[in-house]
Amino acid sequence: MTDQYAVIGNPIGHTKSPLIHRLFAKETGQDITYTGMEAPTEPADAFAATVRRFIAAGGRGMNVTAPFKLQAFAIADERSERAALAGAVNAMKFENGRIIAENFDGVGLVRDIEVNLNQPLAGKRVLVLGAGGAVRGALLPFIAARPAELVVANRHVPKAEAVVAQVASSSRLIACGYRELETMGQFDLVVNATSASLTGQLPPVAPSVFSPRGAAYELAYGKGLTPFLRLARNAGVQGVADGVGMLVEQAAEAFEWWRGVRPRTQAVIDRLTVPLK
Ligand code: NDP
Repeated sequence: MTDQYAVIGNPIGHTKSPLIHRLFAKETGQDITYTGMEAPTEPADAFAATVRRFIAAGGRGMNVTAPFKLQAFAIADERSERAALAGAVNAMKFENGRIIAENFDGVGLVRDIEVNLNQPLAGKRVLVLGAGGAVRGALLPFIAARPAELVVANRHVPKAEAVVAQVASSSRLIACGYRELETMGQFDLVVNATSASLTGQLPPVAPSVFSPRGAAYELAYGKGLTPFLRLARNAGVQGVADGVGMLVEQAAEAFEWWRGVRPRTQAVIDRLTVPLK
């Protein structure tokens, strides 16, 4: 029987994951189906019941998107270190009725930055804006890339402090608010991992954080030049990118985890890219 996979969320109509995984399956010759599945948000156990039905029908794995990443964490039987640190899950594998949980968002982000955008992070000064789920998921992969310094800035500073306090690192790790950034000089990479761009807003970041020789990365995707990327461009930054590469790279990580074969990603990224203008 053809192996079944799905992405589960609510709403799910916007998802690019079925297209991405179908392109991967075609390229690697894997016989799978991959569909979008909307689970009800009520009652409280509706998500778990939907996942259990999928497993009972022979499902092999699922991606998880909003608002279910925390519930997926809660129902898992085994969690990777990355998923445990994030407290959130974006991919599940089903083996003998057990739910094995992962979080590939951060690895996908770091791979997009280092490999696709050719911006190695070792020895660099990196600034991450935001301290939500995406940042919790990205922290270990960022640290593994050995930047000289990793600064996590958030409006609500205790949240940034709590995120940073969870990990040990050989890099200098700092949590702070936006005001403190004004005296911290330029960063080689500034990552907007806030959700501000989803509503066309700009996090209150000073233009002085950008280095014209550095790069700026926006986690949101498909929105063209967001206020954050425009600020970076106006500060002279040439290397600007949005999160479409992260989306495709985290999907490739999940595909390889499920199928044991690594799909090529660049053609898929090109296909999904909305020009930054
Ligand atoms: P969360 O809701 O967990 O966290 C949101 C964060 O954004 C918080 O730190 C919040 O700060 C901050 N924030 C929201 N609005 C503003 C604002 N106007 N100014 C400054 N800070 C603000 O979101 P996630 O971490 O899950 O997602 C963050 C972004 O990453 C979203 O745009 C999401 O779409 C994107 N994403 C992209 C992926 C990809 O594959 N490309 C994958 C996952 C996420 P505070 O705590 O102070 O409220």
